[in-house]
Amino acid sequence: MHAVGSAEELRAILLTRGCERYTGEPVSHLEHALQCADFAERAGAADSLVVAALLHDIGHLLTCYCGTPSADGIDDQHEVLGAACLARLFESGVREPVRLHVAAKRYLAADPAYRRALTEDSLRSLQLQGGVMSAEERAAFEREVHAEAALRLRRWDDAAKRPGRVTPSLDDFWSRAERLALRSSPGRNDHNQPSAKATHTAQSSL
Ligand code: FE
Repeated sequence: MHAVGSAEELRAILLTRGCERYTGEPVSHLEHALQCADFAERAGAADSLVVAALLHDIGHLLTCYCGTPSADGIDDQHEVLGAACLARLFESGVREPVRLHVAAKRYLAADPAYRRALTEDSLRSLQLQGGVMSAEERAAFEREVHAEAALRLRRWDDAAKRPGRVTPSLDDFWSRAERLALRSSPGRNDHNQPSAKATHTAQSSL
């Protein structure tokens, strides 16, 4: 996994790899990130959730994988990679919705109408990510402190795939990311660290 030590490095990754696109998705990674953040902002979300929306798929861009993982039958665990990366820079209000946004899809997928509306890639990855949650898994998800934020993020995520949609630029959002990153310190006492799964590396998963 690409090690990220600053908000500026995250920005550079979005600008350099953000033009990539997955098979079955109609927008690039950067277009998707900007649309997702725009929906969050328009919904009046807190800055932490707007930044989470902007960075929710950063895990996809931290690996060396070229192509579309789900098309090759691979779950790249991007939510785990992304949350682990963001844990160095942001508090739980940013990184936990990122960590939970795949679980939120599995939660929402209990609704057949929700599943029918998913894109080709999202539907394909759903199966690799564990499929629809069981009743026990849903109950456990609902106990997560950031479950509600993750569900909101997921709805914006699913909608943020419209080709040609006009959004603010990365710079328009970035001051918030920098401000929140500066607020976090490496030695802080935070009880919502990502799970041990986050030690997983790109090489082992891909
Ligand atoms: Fe996404």
